[in-house]
Amino acid sequence: MCIFCKIINKEIPSDIEYEDNICTVFHDINPKGDHHMLLVSKKHIPSIADLEDQDGDIVKHLILKARDIAKEKKMSGYKLIFNVGEKGGQEIFHIHLHLIGSA
Ligand code: 5GP
Ligand code: ZN
Repeated sequence: MCIFCKIINKEIPSDIEYEDNICTVFHDINPKGDHHMLLVSKKHIPSIADLEDQDGDIVKHLILKARDIAKEKKMSGYKLIFNVGEKGGQEIFHIHLHLIGSA
């Protein structure tokens, strides 16, 4: 099982910010901004490159939830990033959206 599946299943501890039936959101262990969270699909899909058309709603959900969290945390601005593939900077092959925000 991949590391993010273990975090989702709470076999590995993490600082969980939010959870529903589609995603788990936790704080990145190595933050690259005032706020840095990872919005992770509960379904194990390795990367955006592997995403099937019928799973498009998962990505929509991650983006809308990131918007909600950014608003709730009163972030002044933020970046939403999907790293795709090794050459795209992806290290963990389980779909996740980075929410990196300024205070
Ligand atoms: P990627 O490069 O795959 O897009 O991003 C992986 C992210 O996961 C990195 O920003 C890294 O700091 C974070 N990360 C890796 N392992 C762990 C972990 O065990 N716990 C948490 N909370 N974040 C992790
Ligand atoms: Zn996984």
